[in-house]
Amino acid sequence: MATKRDFYELLGVSKNATAEEIKKAYRQMARKYHPDVNRDDPDAEEKFKEINDAYEVLSDDNKRAAYDRFGHDAFDPTRNAGGFGGGFGGFGDMGGFGDIFDLIFGGASAGRRTRTGPQRGADLEMRLEINFEDAVFGMEKDIELPRVEKCEKCNGSGAEPGSKTKSCPDCHGSGQVRSVQSTPFGRFDTVRPCRRCHGEGKIIENPCSDCRGVGQVRKTRKLQVRIPAGVDSGSRMRIQNEGEQGIRGGPPGDLYIIILVRPHPRLQRDGYNLIVTQSIDFVQAALGTQVEIPLLGGASHTLNVPEGTQPGDIITVRGKGIPHLHSHRQGDLKVIIEVTIPKRLSKRQKELLMVFNDDSEEEKTGKKGLFDKFKDAMG
Ligand SMILES: [Zn+2]
Ligand SMILES: [Zn+2]
Repeated sequence: MATKRDFYELLGVSKNATAEEIKKAYRQMARKYHPDVNRDDPDAEEKFKEINDAYEVLSDDNKRAAYDRFGHDAFDPTRNAGGFGGGFGGFGDMGGFGDIFDLIFGGASAGRRTRTGPQRGADLEMRLEINFEDAVFGMEKDIELPRVEKCEKCNGSGAEPGSKTKSCPDCHGSGQVRSVQSTPFGRFDTVRPCRRCHGEGKIIENPCSDCRGVGQVRKTRKLQVRIPAGVDSGSRMRIQNEGEQGIRGGPPGDLYIIILVRPHPRLQRDGYNLIVTQSIDFVQAALGTQVEIPLLGGASHTLNVPEGTQPGDIITVRGKGIPHLHSHRQGDLKVIIEVTIPKRLSKRQKELLMVFNDDSEEEKTGKKGLFDKFKDAMG
């Protein structure tokens, strides 16, 4: 960023120039550098603003006198301190240190930072909690979305219908003002959105009563969104053009919906696989069995448990899992087998188990077991 140029030099007049001479020089320069006229020179817009700044000071006797005594320091921004209200129009990031660091480290040219043209509306993000089952099968969901929309009464202009707007006298309609800031790093020339017109370049004489001159109102909008089958917690859906509306005729932003899936009491998912834990007793595990596994949406699957199934074994059923998001494939059902051991047995059950145990023993060692010996002894 070049240091601020001398106002007289900018207009090409001497320090003793009369008000008439200054006016004439300004007109000539303004005609030459007006951005609508001088489209070839990329610096024309910047130059035009500099000329306007120079003229604003030199055409006012008091300002000119102050400038002659103190130079650019005469227009210290601390004199018109007070935060820029902002909140609308995306100027929130401007001012303060951001400007200063940009100037030091060569960020965006200060003169181009104030955007007064059309701006795309902000993107919105919302979280949507859905049931496990809805995530698997997909659903249509009505959502309510608070967002900023164009005020209907004034059609976004901010002016009461029938009233007029005029060019802002503080910034000559450019929407921005230059000032010099003193900082620990030295003095910096900064460009800020004009406080009087909030960077719009226009002043509304009679603000719209519905939106108080902002041109926008906050409304709750109802939307129906389709949640595709197979979404998972953390899935992000983009809904085009449903974000905040654009500013000054810019396109709207997008809406992003972050899906949060409530856990299922029985089923879990791992990617596209459904995971369920199924308990069987030790006799079923040893002999093999069939169990009915309830699935989602009222469906169920008859699972064949082979004999000799061990605790912790996982039985995979192909294609009974979650449908893939972008294809017709489906994940698998994985059944984790839990084997229960009875805590209390009847006398007969105990005897049978002892017989079972003896038989196993005899098979292995050829010797009679405890139960047989006991029976023999009893005669
Ligand atoms: Zn202004
Ligand atoms: Zn309005």
